[in-house]
Amino acid sequence: MGIKNKIIKSENLAHEYARRDESGDVTGIVRALDGIDVQIEAGSFVAVLGANGSGKSTFAKHLNGLLFPTEGTLYIDGMDTADSENTLAVRQTAGMVFQNPDNQIIANIVEEDVGFGPENMGVPTDKILKRVEECLKETGMYSYRRHSPNHLSGGQKQRVAVAGVLAMRPKCIILDEATAMLDPAGRKNVLDTIVRLNKKEHITVILITHYMEEVTLADYVYVMKQGKVAYSGTPGEVFQNVGMLRECRLEAPQITQIAQGLQKAGIPLTQGVFTIEGLAKELLELAKKR
Ligand code: ADP
Ligand code: MG
Repeated sequence: MGIKNKIIKSENLAHEYARRDESGDVTGIVRALDGIDVQIEAGSFVAVLGANGSGKSTFAKHLNGLLFPTEGTLYIDGMDTADSENTLAVRQTAGMVFQNPDNQIIANIVEEDVGFGPENMGVPTDKILKRVEECLKETGMYSYRRHSPNHLSGGQKQRVAVAGVLAMRPKCIILDEATAMLDPAGRKNVLDTIVRLNKKEHITVILITHYMEEVTLADYVYVMKQGKVAYSGTPGEVFQNVGMLRECRLEAPQITQIAQGLQKAGIPLTQGVFTIEGLAKELLELAKKR
């Protein structure tokens, strides 16, 4: 596949922050990204996994044109993010949903909040209204369009934030631990919405998370460690690699750990079981063979 199909392509991407003391003097350099090479196909669902401080948010901010490479190059849909003329288009192409929904919702009414992005982009009013309606329907929040975001649950607020990003018609949506503050029901609703957008609208999804269970939704996973991609592969390949996960201060999902325990006990399961359904199916097959 040519570069055209790579919505995200980085070459030796590095980012350095200046570390400062209380008086603002630079005391050192933090190399938060250190030679990142990734190529992400348009329409794919990619998870970025890594312990705290491994560089995930820094990477996300590069994808969204909030930070620029110290070294190396990053292309978003063929646009070099280092070129300031591309910044607006980059932000529009790759929309970001942050961890805390309260920090990204600005208006007092849901539909106004969702319309804010396209309004800033200069989209005509009649088109904004139509987009807002579509995006609220897509995220299951249409019936709340006249509500105040303040009275919504965390999961509902995040779906409004997702709608707000969608209203800018991005090709790619980045979720930086966007479910971390949600209860299980809210998390599931947000993830279901994201999966649907990926499958039906073919929006590229970059899901940054430290929840192993969420990673199972992805086609492909990048595991980060100290600013580098320590490993990449399918969720099954990643979860099998217990040694690598431990080195990256991560753990396989509970179901995978159970499956690995059963394997050790001599039950011949295949490698890379990571869902309840998958484990149930394998155990059933084995039971039938007895
Ligand atoms: P993650 O999202 O995986 O937790 P971050 O990208 O937030 O990782 O951070 C990567 C590294 O960069 C960490 O060592 C962090 O302390 C450092 N860092 C992040 N933001 C800043 C900043 N604004 N100034 C200085 N150092 C930072
Ligand atoms: Mg982070």
